[in-house]
Amino acid sequence: MEEPGSSCKKLCVSEEKRKVQEKWSNAYFVVPQGSDKVMCLICKQVNAMLKEFNIKRYYDTNHKMYDNFMGKERTTKLEQFQRGLTAQQSVFTNLAKSGEAVTQASYGVSLRNCQAEQAVQ
Ligand SMILES: [Zn+2]
Repeated sequence: MEEPGSSCKKLCVSEEKRKVQEKWSNAYFVVPQGSDKVMCLICKQVNAMLKEFNIKRYYDTNHKMYDNFMGKERTTKLEQFQRGLTAQQSVFTNLAKSGEAVTQASYGVSLRNCQAEQAVQ
């Protein structure tokens, strides 16, 4: 039996995590990648950084000039980066899908060839 309230606790923790990640996206232009990495939206570099301290240092070292984007400008910039990222990912997904289709098609062809051979014998 699951303890009552334990699922809520889990939910609250992930909610908390999501808020932290949103804050990081806004402050340092990073998005989470998997469970233990973040990707820099500016240079698309994936780094194992889970401490805000590390992310801040990375941002300060590499992309400090993005501090020029403030307030609404910053939000717009962030949205631009995120949109670009989504577009890129959907291209990858489409490529993967078409690759799958090719594999299935060639499998179908070889299957038909095989049946044809059997019919001849
Ligand atoms: Zn970067």
